[in-house]
Amino acid sequence: MIDFELSEGIQNTRNMVHMLAENMMRPSARQYDEGEHGDKPWDFINMMWEDAKRRNRARFEAQKGAKKEAKSDKPSENAVMFANVIEELSWGDCGLYLNMGGGLGVAAVEAVGTPEQKERFLKRFTEGEPKWGAMAITEANAGSDTAAITTTAVRDGDEWVLNGEKIFVTSGKAAVVDSEGFVVVWATLDRSAGRAGIKSFIVEHGTPGMTVTKLEKKLGIRASDTCTIVFEDCRIPFNNILGSPEVQKKDSTSGFKGAMATFDATRPMVAASALGIGRAAIDFVKEEFQNRGIQIRYGISPYRMTAVEREVQQMEANLQAARLLTWRACWMMDQRQRNNLEASMAKAKAGLAVTLVTQKAVELLGPLGYSRELLLEKWMRDGKINDLFEGTGQINMLIVARRVLDYTREQLK
Ligand SMILES: Cc1cc2nc3c(=O)[nH]c(=O)nc-3n(C[C@H](O)[C@H](O)[C@H](O)COP(=O)(O)OP(=O)(O)OC[C@H]3O[C@@H](n4cnc5c(N)ncnc54)[C@H](O)[C@@H]3O)c2cc1C
Repeated sequence: MIDFELSEGIQNTRNMVHMLAENMMRPSARQYDEGEHGDKPWDFINMMWEDAKRRNRARFEAQKGAKKEAKSDKPSENAVMFANVIEELSWGDCGLYLNMGGGLGVAAVEAVGTPEQKERFLKRFTEGEPKWGAMAITEANAGSDTAAITTTAVRDGDEWVLNGEKIFVTSGKAAVVDSEGFVVVWATLDRSAGRAGIKSFIVEHGTPGMTVTKLEKKLGIRASDTCTIVFEDCRIPFNNILGSPEVQKKDSTSGFKGAMATFDATRPMVAASALGIGRAAIDFVKEEFQNRGIQIRYGISPYRMTAVEREVQQMEANLQAARLLTWRACWMMDQRQRNNLEASMAKAKAGLAVTLVTQKAVELLGPLGYSRELLLEKWMRDGKINDLFEGTGQINMLIVARRVLDYTREQLK
């Protein structure tokens, strides 16, 4: 059976988050965009944190319970719910949403951490003050090509020693300086082993040798910090490695694939964020048209449509196609099915859709789209990030092509 209806629980949550987005996020969206690297929106962060702690507690307990009772294959609707919440929050403001506590590092520990690591690093996300967990993969010469990572991790007795520089770390400052958070750092144990040598390590806030050296000035999502972090003889405990410390050259990519599995969970959420920004732009365009007495008519023959009606309906169709791919990738996650292909499909489609939709919205409204007194120009700037991080549109399309054609990485680069 195919059912495209959201459950009542998801619809109710979605409505509630929408009200919050409208009343708490929209009014301050411009202020935090203009004040890049200025004050943090603590009122908003603290308010969201109370809810996040409760959700994290429930999620972590459910995971533990599922393990104990060996019911880990039991379906849930967590991912579909989460995607809908993110769409609404991003409709409110994507920069503020990214500035809420948590982050990609938390998702990585959840996906591949041991029970002991989850207890040690994730429990803090269920109590106390807001905290962030960042993810540091990208380097000056290693973005799409993660195999080119040069940050090293060398074992020294009971410790790892990390050296290298990571750039464009989302919420890096929040994790390292503003809270008792951590950063998940990708580093190589053995460069000659290529991808098999790359492992991820958890580095706690306040660890000597880890320094935030630069804050990026960005095109969009300016309420969210993005920074450079340098690791200089940075020592961390041996058991802060995520996954096995063995470098298995024979089965050369199994460990790396484990780390990449985090993206199967996070790419659909980036796609969901794109949907929220795109929808904000379309809602705004339709409202403005309505104010001018222009109605978008649905269900009429294409021969009778005006040019504007055609444009708006194409924008909506584009976004809805991305939404269905996103929900599918999330639903598969909830069914405990592998969703690597679907996660990349959703991310590639949604990143492109939000870019096209927001640009078209600015075009349709002309000066209103270009004015900084309104938020449309901001959504065009914010939206583009969804086509960049967590794998660019091109890289996700490459993954889709490889999977559909059954080609290896070497056969299709
Ligand atoms: C605001 C922001 C926040 C970020 N947050 C994080 C974060 O939290 N953690 C983190 O680790 N990184 C983060 N990044 C980095 C981001 O993930 C990378 O920028 C992205 O992966 C692209 O890598 P790159 O910049 O090295 O570009 P490159 O890999 O050099 O790519 C440049 C261009 O070439 C294209 N390209 C590359 N290879 C191919 C190919 N084989 N086929 C076709 N086209 C190709 C790309 O699609 C892109 O258009 C962030 C970036 C930004 C802008």
